[in-house]
Amino acid sequence: DHLLRYADMALYEAKRNGRNCLAFFKPEMETAALKRHEVEMDLRQAIMFQQLQLHYQPIMDVSHVRIVGREALMRWQHPVKGLIMPIDFIPIAEETGLIHELGAFTLHEACVEAMRWDDHETVAVNLSASQFTNGALVSLVESALTQSGLPARRLELEITESVLLANSAANLNTLNRLKALGVKVALDDFGTGYSSLGYLRSFEFDKIKIDKSFTQDVESSKEALAIIRAINGIGRSLDIPTTAEGVETTEQLDRLTQEGCSHFQGYLLGRPVSHDTPSDESV
Ligand code: C2E
Ligand code: CA
Ligand code: CA
Ligand code: CA
Repeated sequence: DHLLRYADMALYEAKRNGRNCLAFFKPEMETAALKRHEVEMDLRQAIMFQQLQLHYQPIMDVSHVRIVGREALMRWQHPVKGLIMPIDFIPIAEETGLIHELGAFTLHEACVEAMRWDDHETVAVNLSASQFTNGALVSLVESALTQSGLPARRLELEITESVLLANSAANLNTLNRLKALGVKVALDDFGTGYSSLGYLRSFEFDKIKIDKSFTQDVESSKEALAIIRAINGIGRSLDIPTTAEGVETTEQLDRLTQEGCSHFQGYLLGRPVSHDTPSDESV
């Protein structure tokens, strides 16, 4: 039954591409499609049987000891395969539309959890660009806040420039409506995408997160250092604090502090941990 469906798809694709059907239908494609289908089925179960959980990683201020907030990072505790990391299921969730269910879970869970923390601490939730394609995002955020009782100012949504790249007028409108609720919006993975500078003009971000690829090369690469300086310069002029991600050594921490980053996140300061078990994924 599956094979027929995939053969059908391949035939359709082949016609569309004007290619030879036999040349197109490669066994590895079939395997990839079947594997994706398997993960999709598994992921539906994961939602139903509550195998998804959030781990929280602390974000520190310049004193390096005071927690200003935590980022929620999704984990999948699979009954057979064990702990599965986001890179292995978020892309499939995005392709299949299951990201909307995952996203609803994350927003509610993170807001409820943050209610147990100090009143000054924020919770950061990652949003995929595909979550913006569904008109329900604003009301989803609103209901997570209402149901948990979390003040809007304590919720920070992390988006990448892909959100502004795809369908930018509509997504910009959604971002402005989110901001009107009083939630914060951070620009994640800054510097890694196409040309992020323009996005800083089109939307007033509350925070810029410097990607860990720059952090980790801060000492060894003058290019990485130059980019970090440029990002911090823009942040200073626009009055947007920057967070250095992926800080693993004290040398990196000291250097990035000198360079003017306002917040720090990384294994050195704290790994992502689940709130109900004391330890997290191994080193
Ligand atoms: P991200 O938003 O850039 O998250 C930071 C990633 O860096 C996390 O990986 C975190 O565990 C890891 N990290 C933190 N400190 C260090 C460090 O010192 N060294 C190194 N090498 N890594 C560090 P993780 O948890 O595997 O998440 C990967 C990506 O998956 C995230 O990247 C985010 O884009 C996505 N993601 C995670 N949770 C969610 C979610 O709930 N929803 C959506 N849409 N995406 C999520
Ligand atoms: Ca993030
Ligand atoms: Ca990031
Ligand atoms: Ca990333």
